[in-house]
Order: sequence, then structure tokens, then C-alpha cells
Amino acid sequence: MGRLVPLSIPNFEGNEEKYVLDAVKQGWVSTGGAYITRLEELLAEYTGAKRVAACQSGTAALHLALMECGAGPGDLVIVPALTFIAAVNPVRYQFADPIFMDCDDSLCMDPVKLTRFCEEACELRTARKDGRSAKDSQPLGEGAGETEEYLVYKKTGQRIRAVVVVHVFGNLADMEAIMDIAAAYRLRVVEDATEALGSVYTEGRYAGRMAGTIGDFGAYSFNGNKIITTGGGGAVTAADPKELEHIHYISTQAKDDPLFYLHNETGYNYRMTNLQAALGVAQMEELPEFIRRKARNYQLYKECLRDWEKGELLPFREGTKPNYWFYSLVLKEGVQSQEDVYRLVLQLQEAGVQTRPVWGLIHEQKPYQSCAAYEIERAVYYSRRIINLPCSTQLTEEELEYVAEAIKKICK
Ligand SMILES: *Cc1c(COP(=O)(O)O)cnc(C)c1O
Repeated sequence: MGRLVPLSIPNFEGNEEKYVLDAVKQGWVSTGGAYITRLEELLAEYTGAKRVAACQSGTAALHLALMECGAGPGDLVIVPALTFIAAVNPVRYQFADPIFMDCDDSLCMDPVKLTRFCEEACELRTARKDGRSAKDSQPLGEGAGETEEYLVYKKTGQRIRAVVVVHVFGNLADMEAIMDIAAAYRLRVVEDATEALGSVYTEGRYAGRMAGTIGDFGAYSFNGNKIITTGGGGAVTAADPKELEHIHYISTQAKDDPLFYLHNETGYNYRMTNLQAALGVAQMEELPEFIRRKARNYQLYKECLRDWEKGELLPFREGTKPNYWFYSLVLKEGVQSQEDVYRLVLQLQEAGVQTRPVWGLIHEQKPYQSCAAYEIERAVYYSRRIINLPCSTQLTEEELEYVAEAIKKICK
């Protein structure tokens, strides 16, 4: 047979070679150089974020955001059960614990369950910002005794710092509801927009706003399979420019004086390199075209599978214009377990079609089995019924029809 339709491969039809070669010829290959700032400008312009800091990976972006949230030892961070594990690992890098939340039918975090969790399993407490107990009866001096509320998980008494919301496969989470909950329960919001660069709300309070620019922080990834790639790379945004400034500072070794090597904090080597950024600048030029192609191919798949009764493409949320990064096929009949899904993936592989099941649920993975998980149900359902279809921007109509036919033939 010989043919293979890959799941998702990068597309370098633009100025990639030119810019990368240029960076090499200039000798600027490391964590300084004009391509880095250019990429940051392009990203800010495109997303509408005030400022963007480029970094080594989406994982680094998420780690930087969590640090800025103040998540530390003993704290809790609410995370999705159905996601890529890189959205969760940074919680542990901060010696905090994740607590797992279910998804809604968009595969993103369920705001109804999130509300119920905050309402029933947690309580707001008050503390003085100066660290003294709010119940402390000592008379207060001028300006002293400023208080802040924070959310506590009643079962363990741990403080919940933040919620990490993932825009899964380019689908946008219900940010209106989630931002309201976060405000009511004093949670900081980290948007994991690593899969959703370019997804935008078209209706409601956030009409015109892009994934990653609504919460306190937004993280992007430019890994090889994302909608644009820098090989490896990422970027982070923050609603508060001071916080972004600080993120930039700790991502570049927290250097306070370039000449005398003065450092006042523990920094990280998380800055993106100019070589990566050169690739990224070329990719940004093509991003609108990539999204056009992905949108078109999504519609074509939908047409090919219209009268098929065994499954359907997962719809994207109404009131949004997604980036159509991944196409999830939700299987209705015949596929009810992980084994069924794996069998199907292998059969399609033999037919020359590369697909992937959705991720294994994170609260079931070894490092996280002892963590709290709140009523995970829909994530379990979807994790047993979804395969993702080939979605590269180079996908031809002929290949796409071949994929649809192969699925129909195998799932008879
Ligand atoms: C890709 C991805 C990440 C991590 O990005 P890297 O650049 O690979 O570190 C984090 N979260 C989600 C949901 C992802 O898909």
C-alpha cells in the first residue's frame, strides 16, 4: 500500500529557511536577537495581548505563569483531568498539588462542576495581608490590617491558588462562566492556550477576544505538532504588565545588571532562542492561511461523514471562531472502551491513516493517582470514544476522502 496520511506534521512553505539561515549568518542563535522581539511583537499584535514573553516551551510558559500566581508548596491548583499532562506537571514543579476537574461537551473544563466544587467542597477565608490572623483582636494601626480572601479546600485545609483552563484541541472553554467563578472564589486563572492560538470568541462578553488573553495569564506552545511551530518553544501573556515584566525577568536568569551579574531572585533559563524565533516569525506570517485550511478541511470531513451513523466530529463551541487545530471524531457505537479505541487506531494505521486516541486521563497517571479528583465522569466517557483525525495543513482533499472512507470501512 505504501501510503501514510500523517496525523499532524509541520508546514514550512513560507520564509522559514530564509529567516533561520539569516539568524545563523548573523551569528545570533541564542537567547538574544531581533527575531525574538519580532516574534513577541507579532504575537501581541495578533492576539491583542498587551505584551508577550517568548520562552522555551509551552510547559515553561505554564510554569512561569504558575510561579507568578504564587502557587507554592502545599497549595492546590485546579486542573483538567482530560488534557495533555504538560498542563499539570508545572503544578508539581512548584511543589503544589493538582486537584482534577471534569470537562463539559467541548472537552474543556466544566464550569457547572467547577462552581459546585467551589461552593460545596471549599470555603472562603479571610487573612490579613501582613500575615496575621484576621481574628487577631489587637488594635490596628493606620493602614494596617488590610485583608484578602482566599479559597480553602475544606477536606485538607489547603489554599487553592489558581485554576488552569485548557482550550482543548482549539475549542474555547466557557470563559465567561469560568471568569465569574474565579472572581467569586478569588482564584487566579491560567489559560492554557497551547492548542488554541487564533481561536477567538465572536459572541458574548468576550467577543473579539482571543484564547490566552482573558485570564490572568495565557500560555502558548510552538511544539512541532501545534498550529505554528518553532521546533520547541512557547510564549506567555499576562493581564498585568508588571507581572509579565517579572515573568520575563525570571525567564532570563533574573539578571538585574548585565555587566556585573547581579541577581536578586532565582531565575530560570526559559528564554526562547533567536533560531527558534526565526522559525516562529515565518510561521506567524502563515498562521491565517493555516487556520483557513484547517477550517476548510474540518468542513470537508464533516461532509464526508454526514450520513454516517457510527460517529460524528466533535463540534466547536457556538459563539466562537476556533483555529480548528485538531479534529476529534466521537464514536457512538461499537467503541466503548479504551481497547476498542486502540484496536481502531491500529487498524487505521494498517490502512495508512495515522490517528491518535485522546490522552489518558491525568488523575489516573502514576504521579497523580493520590490527588483529589472531583466527579470525573464526562472525561471518562470521552476518553474512551475519541480518535483524532489527520489534520495537517498540507492535507489534500483526496487524502481526506481516503481517511473518511477508511474509517467507514473499518467501523462497519
Ligand atoms: C502542547 C501542550 C502543552 C505543552 O507545550 P510544550 O511546548 O510541548 O511544552 C501544554 N498543554 C497542552 C494542553 C498542550 O497541548
